[in-house]
Amino acid sequence: MNCQHPRDEILATMERIYRSRMTTTSGGNLSIREKNGDVWITPARVDKGSLRRDDIILVRADGSTDGKHRPSSELPFHQAIYAARPDVRAIVHAHPVALVAFSICRRVPDTRLLHQSWRICGEVGFAPYALPGSPALGQNIALTFARGFDCVVLENHGVVTAGDSLQQAFERFETLEFAAKTMIKASQLSEVRSLDEAALALRVGVADPGSNRPVISSEEKELRRQICEFVRRSERQRLMISTEGALSARLGEDSFLITPHGVDRSRIELEDIVLVENGRPESGKTPSSSTTGHRAIYQRQRDVQSIINAYPVNATAFSVTAATLDSRTIPESFILLRDVQRSPFGARVGDGRDLAERMTLSQPIMLLDNDGVMVVGSSVLDAFDRLEVLEATAEAMIDSRPLGPLVPMSDAVIEELCQAFFK
Ligand SMILES: [Zn+2]
Repeated sequence: MNCQHPRDEILATMERIYRSRMTTTSGGNLSIREKNGDVWITPARVDKGSLRRDDIILVRADGSTDGKHRPSSELPFHQAIYAARPDVRAIVHAHPVALVAFSICRRVPDTRLLHQSWRICGEVGFAPYALPGSPALGQNIALTFARGFDCVVLENHGVVTAGDSLQQAFERFETLEFAAKTMIKASQLSEVRSLDEAALALRVGVADPGSNRPVISSEEKELRRQICEFVRRSERQRLMISTEGALSARLGEDSFLITPHGVDRSRIELEDIVLVENGRPESGKTPSSSTTGHRAIYQRQRDVQSIINAYPVNATAFSVTAATLDSRTIPESFILLRDVQRSPFGARVGDGRDLAERMTLSQPIMLLDNDGVMVVGSSVLDAFDRLEVLEATAEAMIDSRPLGPLVPMSDAVIEELCQAFFK
């Protein structure tokens, strides 16, 4: 349940979009429609980097407005969408660069790229160009939403997403921009592979909530703190997005703490983290869909203390193509990543037996086909460090492509590194 006032919710969401560099200070507008038909919307021509709660405008159902600015010049298309779709309660519009790249090539991203983007965004619509702020633009966009799309790319303009809450509209916006970025990066590597119907139909298993709550030890409290800190940092560093990514830490022989299912990664709190003991999650909480796989790894690999599933854009681009992520780029990459492994789609949510055999501290990285990356470590910090190095390595490899063929470190150099660091 969201108890935030629409002013505060719009403010917090705009701040987040601006901070993640998904809008410029002049572009982008958000709105929320209340049950009585009143619409709260961002103002026209106010710096998005320093928006305050009293800058948000109320446009009542009767057309009168309340606020110290004029409402966004794109108010007409927000109103047209609300008229066409009674189920829509909030709208996000901006010009994030990857979706603008699609928009100016008159294409839409293929959301079948990842299970999550398909589930969250569905099929994406495309609305023809019209003058910004005009009734014609409103009509073009509203007609596309009326056909059932929740995400619409605007020709030579940007994107609009809608939802039954601002949180849902934001998740669609963020996930779609992430899918667009991943597709652009992946296209530079090799042929991009999408998921087929069977893979998309795969049920992503979520364990039932259950069991009782014992007294919490200070060791468990410390691990909860570390998980929260690194999950929030992962979201800030764009290694996870609001809806996706899991982090766990071992507590005992068959017990560990893991991120919950369906909680926004930027707002995760100590009490959201789920204890899983002997395969049973603590009472009333739903653990991440990666839980079974994490448990299998902890049971098989005694020295693994932490596991992360993440979706950083450059490494994920490798996961949606057959391109090889060769870690022999610089010593740091080879030492922390070793030989990067690959696993077919579905491995993360299966019984985890294959992952448990193959994920070790000397083979700590797995690219999951169309499902991001998985990393293990000897501590939460160690796993997070490897994840950051993995993403930096993937980005450098993609950036190197226009410069010339990449020259990997030679066998002799690798042998020298192995002698120095692993013997
Ligand atoms: Zn615009």
